[in-house]
Parts: sequence; C-alpha cells; structure tokens
Amino acid sequence: MIITMKKDASAKELERLREGFDEKGLRVNVIEGEEYNVWGIVGDTAHINDRDILANRCVANVQRVSAPYKLANRMFHPEDTVVDVGGVKVGGTSPIVVIGGPCSVENRDMICRIGEEVRECGAQMIRGGAYKPRTSPYAFQGLGYEGILDMAEARNRTGLPIVSELMSADKIDEFVENVDLIQIGARNMQNFDLLKAVGHVNKPILLKRGMSATIEEWIMSAEYIMASGNPNVILCERGIRTFEKYTRNTMDLAVVPIIKERTHLPIIIDPSHATGDWKLIESVSLAAVAAGADGLIIEVHDHPDQAWSDGAQCLKPEKFQELIRKCRKVAEAVGRQM
Ligand code: PEP
Ligand code: MN
Repeated sequence: MIITMKKDASAKELERLREGFDEKGLRVNVIEGEEYNVWGIVGDTAHINDRDILANRCVANVQRVSAPYKLANRMFHPEDTVVDVGGVKVGGTSPIVVIGGPCSVENRDMICRIGEEVRECGAQMIRGGAYKPRTSPYAFQGLGYEGILDMAEARNRTGLPIVSELMSADKIDEFVENVDLIQIGARNMQNFDLLKAVGHVNKPILLKRGMSATIEEWIMSAEYIMASGNPNVILCERGIRTFEKYTRNTMDLAVVPIIKERTHLPIIIDPSHATGDWKLIESVSLAAVAAGADGLIIEVHDHPDQAWSDGAQCLKPEKFQELIRKCRKVAEAVGRQM
C-alpha cells in the first residue's frame, strides 16, 4: 500500500498514523520527496480499509499494490482449485461441466422428467429453483421445501448432483441435507451474513456475480465464504446490468480470463440469465467454452411457453443437446475435454 501525505501534514498527525501501522505489525518505509512524502506500507494490509486511511487529514492519496483478497488470490495459491460436487469435478483440467434444468421446480414429475432429459443430453448436474428471488411479490415464489425434496428425488432417479438457490440462512440445514451445490444468487452476492453462513458449511457454493458488481467486489464475496472456512467456491458470471436493452443483461465474457489470472477458483457461465433469450444461448455458450470457462449452467424446459418462470430463456431439450454437441467441438479446439 502506497500512501501520499499532504504537504502541510503536521508531525503529530503523521506520528499518530504511524503508530497505528506499528500496532498492526506493518512496516512503514518513508520516501521523502521534493514536493510530497510517500509512505510504503509493507506487510499484510488485507485488514486495512483504504477509506479509513483516507479519513486521516494528513493523507492525500492511498493506492493499493496488492489485491485486497488473499484466500482467493492466485498469487498465494498458484494451482487451480478443483471443486468436487457430489463426485463431479469442476475446475482445473477437469472436463467442462454442463448443468441443465428449469428455472423453477414446478412439481416432482416435471423436475424428474426434465432431469432425465438433461442427463440424456449429456449434462452432469441438474438445476432447479425452489426458493425464487422474483422482482414482483405477485410472481411465483417457488415451491419452498417441497421443491427441495422434489430436487432430491430427481437426484435419486438420475444419479446427477443437484443445484438450487439458497436465499436465507434460516434454510441452511435443509440445503446441507439435500442439495449438492448451494447457489447464492446475483441478488444476494453481497448479503454478507448469508456468505458467512455458507462459509461454515461443508458443501460447495456456486456464487453468482451481482448484477452491478465489479469483478473485485465479486471476488471479495468469494473471499467472505473462504474466510469463514469453506474453500469450495465456484464463480458464475450471469451478465451485468448496462444501458443495453436488446439483452436482459450484458454478458461480460472477459471475466473468464480475468478470474483465471487473478484467482484459482473455477468459473462457469450462465448464458440464460446473461441474455434472457433462448436464441442467443448457443452462441454465448460456444464463446464461453472458447474463452476457457469451466462449465455452463443453462435453463432447460420441455414446454418453455408454459414455464412458471424464465420461459423465454429456456432451451428445449433438443436444442440443449445440439448445443452440448457443438460445445464439445470448441472444447476440443481449445484443448479441453467435455
Ligand atoms: C436463477 O438461477 O434462477 C437466478 C435467479 O439467477 P440470478 O441470481 O443469476 O438472477
Ligand atoms: Mn431463472
């Protein structure tokens, strides 16, 4: 961390600031310039908030040299993290995974039927929401616990691990008991109490990017989970909010190489929520595989026009199967198995 001091900083103010760093076990290297004095702070500055330093009247500017995240940082953990989801490996050199299923569980037969269909198409996991974060309080809110039990039945019938979204920490036991991969949705990416709660469980977490979150904020949310003791985090890009209206969100594909460079965590792509349009899902999926994503999570419904949520961004099973076939060719071209 580099701190530039104001020209008129008093000796007393500087001394107080310096004592604060000493108490934290940090070293201060002072460079006396013609115009300004600059301090180089050496040591673990992860616990220091830049804005708290700026609150000192003697400080003109604060600049970080290293990222504020430690556990997620590739610098301190050069090898890729591979997350095991009920026997399916995600990340590193593992084959690219595909997760398919409806936005919401509608009933037991439906999720078991679609689960079997996505398995036949080549998916390795089933998705399905039982607790749904809907913009309108009048929209379908999900089947709740019944939906979680329906998902568990789909796993029993297909043998595939299941993914579902947890919205509130009071349901955590239900999820730990029944769900293989616990999803934290875009709207809860900065629900810090929820992040800490899933940091205490022994289940992998799928952390979606918040719709207006910077990459650093997103990684810091992964850091919350990891700092609470759970190292098994898979990141999921699901599009961010921009001025563009032709798509539901804007797919930020550059995050794939950025996340790979800065962190050691696996990253998967959700082209359904990123585009909001089933016609765009295939192109975005092919691009995601080419960019180095470790997996895809795609909404699939056998009757999208009758889906209880997100029908417009669901693929029919035939299209989903065709997409997987095409993605395998791209995977091969970029040296990945799928
Ligand atoms: C979902 O996966 O159904 C969902 C609501 O996703 P997101 O949190 O990305 O909007
Ligand atoms: Mn959805």
